Amino acid sequence: MRQKRAKTYRKLMSLYSMSFGFRQPYQILVDSELCKASVDHKIELVKQLGTVLQGEVKPMITQCCIHELYLQRGQQPAVDLAKTFERRKCNHREPIPGDECLASVVGDSNKHRYVIATQSTPLRTKLRLIPAVPIVHINRSVMILEPPSDTTIRAKALMEQKVLNSTASTETALLASLSTSTEPVPRKKRGPKGPNPLSVKKKKTPNLLPQPQLTKSPSKASLDGKDVGSGKQEKGEDKKSDDTHKRKRMEDNEGDEARSSNIIMSGSTGSSRKRKRRRKGASNTSDSNVIHES
Ligand SMILES: [Zn+2]
Repeated sequence: MRQKRAKTYRKLMSLYSMSFGFRQPYQILVDSELCKASVDHKIELVKQLGTVLQGEVKPMITQCCIHELYLQRGQQPAVDLAKTFERRKCNHREPIPGDECLASVVGDSNKHRYVIATQSTPLRTKLRLIPAVPIVHINRSVMILEPPSDTTIRAKALMEQKVLNSTASTETALLASLSTSTEPVPRKKRGPKGPNPLSVKKKKTPNLLPQPQLTKSPSKASLDGKDVGSGKQEKGEDKKSDDTHKRKRMEDNEGDEARSSNIIMSGSTGSSRKRKRRRKGASNTSDSNVIHES
């Protein structure tokens, strides 16, 4: 076989396998006339089929086709050849002409992916109307694989378009899914991240600071439910601190009465000590309460 022909056949078989799912070993339905022709031209049929289709081959013959050979006299070599092939059950109870049998086996879609090896020109023209049917025939002792039929080429184009459309649709779907999945997530992230940590700290710090310095803190402490008594004490302290301020003003105004003011200041310090003692007692009671609750 010439190199150019080998290349075209290789391309053709790759088309059948890539686009229509043909797999090796290729199943080849051989008709009775081709068996006779191969015997007449002394062609090694199976070997030639292998070289033309460029792969493993599995020659087959239908019950009707082998029956045609049995009926003819002087065709023993062809019968012997046909007997080496795998028998294909066509389920024709009464044997019908080989062309009709092969046409029925191929059907309208060649779903079993047969290669048809036939010498019948009417059958070949008929099979050209069915997509993806590789056709082989012998012409003057040369085995020929027909170029793809128009129906086959059209079917291939249609399938490719379908594949393209499907991939395009899947791509668009993927893009859509990506866009839908990616868009809302950052929006959610951009949402309120809770209270400003700095503002939270500012709120916490006044509670931690010594309470007597702020007028609002005692009320908050009472709300927290620590002890109402301490709050009262602090209120009293505030009053006293106001008194001390007043006294200081008095001192500024009346510098003569320094002794009395000193006495008052010492008195105030004493009262603060007393308060500390009271606080300690209050804290102890609160602790005991906590223990009881737990
Ligand atoms: Zn049949």
